[in-house]
Amino acid sequence: MKITDVEVIVLEQPQAYAAPKGSEESAGVKFLCLVRVSTDEGITGYADVETQPHVAKAAAEAPYSGSDAFEGLRNLAIGEDPFETEKLWDKMYRGSIYYGRRGVAIQVMSGIDIACWDIKGKATGLPVYKLLGAGYRDKVRAYASTLFRPTPDDMRRAVDYYLERGFTAIKFGWGVFGQDPKLDVQLVKAAREQAGPDVEVLVDAGWKVHRTPFEAVEMVRSIEEFEPYWVEDFMHPEDYAGYAYVSDRVETRVAAGEQEATIWGFERLIDEGKVDVAQPDISRCGGLTVAKKIADYAELRNRSVCPHAWLSDILTSASLHVNAYLKKSLFLEYNVSSGPLARDLCANPIELKDGYIDVPQGPGLGVEIDPAAIAKYRVA
Ligand code: MG
Repeated sequence: MKITDVEVIVLEQPQAYAAPKGSEESAGVKFLCLVRVSTDEGITGYADVETQPHVAKAAAEAPYSGSDAFEGLRNLAIGEDPFETEKLWDKMYRGSIYYGRRGVAIQVMSGIDIACWDIKGKATGLPVYKLLGAGYRDKVRAYASTLFRPTPDDMRRAVDYYLERGFTAIKFGWGVFGQDPKLDVQLVKAAREQAGPDVEVLVDAGWKVHRTPFEAVEMVRSIEEFEPYWVEDFMHPEDYAGYAYVSDRVETRVAAGEQEATIWGFERLIDEGKVDVAQPDISRCGGLTVAKKIADYAELRNRSVCPHAWLSDILTSASLHVNAYLKKSLFLEYNVSSGPLARDLCANPIELKDGYIDVPQGPGLGVEIDPAAIAKYRVA
């Protein structure tokens, strides 16, 4: 089998990507990058990538230069066998090495890689987790992944809404968090009181706030009495020493990694950053090929992995397959944002049942892309 085309499709929803002003849900991403890989056997694979899709499209479509170092990713992939995901990954990494390695290039590579795993599954009739080599579970406990609300009352209303939907774990991220340390404590306290002792409350403190490691320790200690399951993403993503400083001084699990990429990056985050929970976004870390290596490396170092996923049911599905592969799975991150791009792209939407989501059993990622949704939201 040979790859015949790679398309980066830009989707746009009317709503802006903004933090909630009250108890309402965020609309989520305004633009979504959809990658479609076609083959000479008529099988197509899909991925959605959390990136800047207009830039991603340029990285895919850049013309051939003859350098084998500044090449567009589409040209690098065309003609290759989608079953040889390791070989293709290395070719794309080296072929984009002077403008790539991190950021948008690795994100487009991630999309192409995920789409190839989707193709491998569709061609063999097997779900991706079987191709990864393990299916330890057929359902994964989901956490509602949402943004901080600005007041304790709004936090309580939001918690009630997720409990009504059946979630047993809720993560609140950034928004107003980090602007007023006293308010931060009140918001987490309100979430814990409303959720009760049996529901996990997770805190994504957000990298947008400038914190020294000392200030980060103060922040984590200020909310530890409310027993957050983890505190996430609170240092600048390049500050591995800062993460290690905090991890050595707090009781709560430290989680990070949504901006990290490649196995080399995660090796540093785990060994130098001493994070307890590595959070590769499969659409940014280098795809399923790299996510598998991260899972294996974290196992070797006895740390947890919980994929980051805040996009459509396509990325959620990729995360479900990685969760199935992990010997120990913590949660599935489930994006509850209200915008249509999170919900409408798949004809067989993912459903929450008693706080869990089933690992898809169909071929490939196990999601059916709805062509009408692509046509409706496509802008480039
Ligand atoms: Mg996060």
